[in-house]
Amino acid sequence: MFHFCPSCASPRIRFEAHKLFRCPDCGFVYYHNIAAATGCIIATDEGILFLIRAKEPAQGKLDLPGGFVSLEEGAVEGLRRECREEIGWDPGPQVSFFASFPNTYPYQGIRYNTCDLFFTCSAPSLRTEDLHRDPQEIGGIRFIKPARLLMEELAFDSTRRVMQAFIGAHPPHEAPLPVV
Ligand SMILES: [Zn+2]
Repeated sequence: MFHFCPSCASPRIRFEAHKLFRCPDCGFVYYHNIAAATGCIIATDEGILFLIRAKEPAQGKLDLPGGFVSLEEGAVEGLRRECREEIGWDPGPQVSFFASFPNTYPYQGIRYNTCDLFFTCSAPSLRTEDLHRDPQEIGGIRFIKPARLLMEELAFDSTRRVMQAFIGAHPPHEAPLPVV
């Protein structure tokens, strides 16, 4: 995507080891580091809350509430902000860390590598009418019982891996989910 060194405009800039740009002429180095992202498994009596993605990548597929962590933001802070933005509901500070998986997020020709941090939260009585979704980002909201979840409907590898881990840790017959 980048053809010239942003420091000296040399055309000899190279992308090395999938993670950094280096210019052999002026020594400029830029690290394309991983980004931190979050996701929340919100467990309700009706099932786990999933969002239908309104935009690419993975438009129409299911995703968990969450997103990229912003500058000067902690992971839980970022998760709570994304939940407020996407569904108009804040899981509060008492979310529990559950698992982390790497992911890739292609956006406008650039592949971002992310470290996805997944949290769980118990909200037994949460219903669609308690939520206010952002129609620009979210095509719809679905509550799905773990036993009925189809992994191929999920948007990302990291989401599939965390849902497999979550269902493994909370077999469907073992309802209700523990309060966190
Ligand atoms: Zn240079």
